[in-house]
Amino acid sequence: MKHFLIAALCLSLFSCNQSSTKTTDKKDVLAKASREDKNGWIYVHLEGSPSDIGYQHGYLLANDIDTSIQAISYYLVHETHRDWSFYRQAAKNFLWDKLDREYKDEINGIVAGLHDQNKNYDSLDLTAYNALEELAFYYVPLLDSAKNKAPGNCSAFIATGSYTKDGKIVIGHNNWTEYIIGQHWNVIADIVPEHGHHLMMDCMPGFIHSGDDFVINDNGILITETTITQFVGFDSTKTPEFMRARKAAQYANSIDDVVNIFLKDNNGGYANDWLIGDTKTNEVAKFELGLKNYRVWRSKDTAIIGSNFASDPKLIKEETTFNINDNTTSPNARKLRMVQLVNVDMKGKLDDSTGKIIEADHVDATAGKRENNRCVICGHIDEDPKGCTEWDCAPYYPMGAVQSKVTTADLAQHMQFWAHMGHPCGENFIGASFYKLHPEYAWQAKYLNNMLSYPWTLFNAKK
Ligand SMILES: [Zn+2]
Repeated sequence: MKHFLIAALCLSLFSCNQSSTKTTDKKDVLAKASREDKNGWIYVHLEGSPSDIGYQHGYLLANDIDTSIQAISYYLVHETHRDWSFYRQAAKNFLWDKLDREYKDEINGIVAGLHDQNKNYDSLDLTAYNALEELAFYYVPLLDSAKNKAPGNCSAFIATGSYTKDGKIVIGHNNWTEYIIGQHWNVIADIVPEHGHHLMMDCMPGFIHSGDDFVINDNGILITETTITQFVGFDSTKTPEFMRARKAAQYANSIDDVVNIFLKDNNGGYANDWLIGDTKTNEVAKFELGLKNYRVWRSKDTAIIGSNFASDPKLIKEETTFNINDNTTSPNARKLRMVQLVNVDMKGKLDDSTGKIIEADHVDATAGKRENNRCVICGHIDEDPKGCTEWDCAPYYPMGAVQSKVTTADLAQHMQFWAHMGHPCGENFIGASFYKLHPEYAWQAKYLNNMLSYPWTLFNAKK
């Protein structure tokens, strides 16, 4: 027993000191990783212990992490009236101590990799950055007594059984974000951790979780989500959402596992309708998770959509300020369109090809025609004279669909998914012409220029 304890202590010390090991050791660590820039994406393969994965990530994506944190901290000052030191303090006060050792090591590894590329960030910077959504849009609004800050991000679907072409699961998601942030949601992280499952997800550089949430793991678990519009609530004494999301991706073997990992010590941050599939059982689920309420719907023969609306009447009443009866809102208009697409027009035809068409759709169901606005699945609020009041977006706010992903059970079995950087419809956002029309957003020009649209690209995890 004594020997075991000494061995464990040595291992732990080695792990803690990984970042200060010799150059040759760092070369060995980096030799297991790789980076490839492809069609607007940065694909990275990360492999090894938590600190190794972190070091590889920080070292290989140092410039990207630096640029992204700069853009986001600039954005947060303007939009939340808090500077970066406020977010670091929140990380110190109630986030860092709640992280599992594994994820502290990974974040410390990112910091070490950044330092070796002369980028001086610390673990609080990286923790605050990883908690961007839950801090800026769930914690801060409570401090301000604001009622309707929690934004709606994304359009998604998951389908199985008679709804899909091959009877197996199909899943798709596009990410709606402020362009100044979303342009950085351009990483495909292929992670082979020491413990848990091989996973592949999209994320921002420096994130240990997906953030917009599109994840597959090598035990057939598929996860995505859309956020619950106008959600109110956050419990800073509980576990950060970003770590629970990463744990679900890495450790879940079933839909129940995903649900249980998210429920354990839930802080209510980034309250979502999670869409979950298990290719082993061909079952899919919607898991609606607030702070006080949650509900699970599951089936082996269904199509489920997400467009930022909640479904459980109790949760809507107690935890949101959202008007479920106003079809001119973005969530409700997209709901109408997506239900038509997955339940009628494309029922029995859903696969990766039709999934891409859905994520790029431009029909406004309330107008009955093609539009570029807040009500279409591939959102363009920067072209909408009404903006999006339910998320506090003023007219023409530069926000909307920034990228998209689709996969099928067969592709996921081989650890593959399709990804598209930029508006899924193929339209480019050109900063110079936008700011000329809308000088009220010229403050964003410092970090937002063009957001170009690239071709759909199939990503394969390394085996
Ligand atoms: Zn579009």
